[in-house]
Amino acid sequence: MPDTPLDLLIVPTWVVPVEPAGVVLSGHALGIRGGLIAWLGPRHKAPPAHEVQELPGCLLSPGLINAHGHAAMTLFRGMADDLPLMNWLEKHIWPAEARWVDEAFVATGTQLAIAEQLKGGITCFSDMYFYPRVACEQVDRSGMRAQISAPILDFPIPGAATPEQALSQAVALFDAHRQHPRISIAFGPHAPYTVSDPHLEQVRMLAEQLQAPVQMHVHETAFEVEQAVAATAERPLARLARLGLLGPRFQAVHMTQVSDDDLHLLVAYNASVVHCPESNLKLASGFCPVENSGRPG
Ligand SMILES: [Zn+2]
Repeated sequence: MPDTPLDLLIVPTWVVPVEPAGVVLSGHALGIRGGLIAWLGPRHKAPPAHEVQELPGCLLSPGLINAHGHAAMTLFRGMADDLPLMNWLEKHIWPAEARWVDEAFVATGTQLAIAEQLKGGITCFSDMYFYPRVACEQVDRSGMRAQISAPILDFPIPGAATPEQALSQAVALFDAHRQHPRISIAFGPHAPYTVSDPHLEQVRMLAEQLQAPVQMHVHETAFEVEQAVAATAERPLARLARLGLLGPRFQAVHMTQVSDDDLHLLVAYNASVVHCPESNLKLASGFCPVENSGRPG
């Protein structure tokens, strides 16, 4: 319908389109019709529009994606910084979660995180936190896109008394969102040191049946890897490979410790790595070696 006026013409100072990549357009405008991008071109060629929004000094680009987070923990911001991961978790975060986290906490914290993310240009995020059903409700209301990872740990967590209950809740949540246009459900086994082999095998089986993504903290710190190697002579990533977890649907979060063997496993299984520089700075956990060029040596 080229003659139908646009609903909205957005006129920013710059447009950064998806295609072609690496291009910054100036003097351009973008038209919306029926909730979809209907037109992009030089402003002076723009078709008529019911509404024109001038955005001087603004850059218009596709929404940013936050590939890992714990949205409701926004309410814990500032609590216990600059500590080693295990000290931070065991002495501060897990006790605070046991004391404070309930459905209302998750609803409020997720709302706040959604507002902050939208303000920062993020339109899609991945979340891993307790009461994932409540997070889904907030995402549904917000208009954002999200991957909601249902958390699985060996011990009781808010909202699930056992890992079996957490797994069955994850499957129910997956079923409930199969047709949702903006929400996808993933399994979120917390980390190699909090989920035992039998539960990881259940995650693998269910994720395979449902073709669901699996997001997990892996090799977040050197301590995690050293402890696993000392106890079992096996690096956590190699253990996940042995258990059949690695594959294109697997998202390894953090990976500050990457040996040549680890890299070969990630490539061989085509698994994804999620780099979390800000989180790794917060707890001085190390750096994911994503940048090779320009590095001495
Ligand atoms: Zn995390």
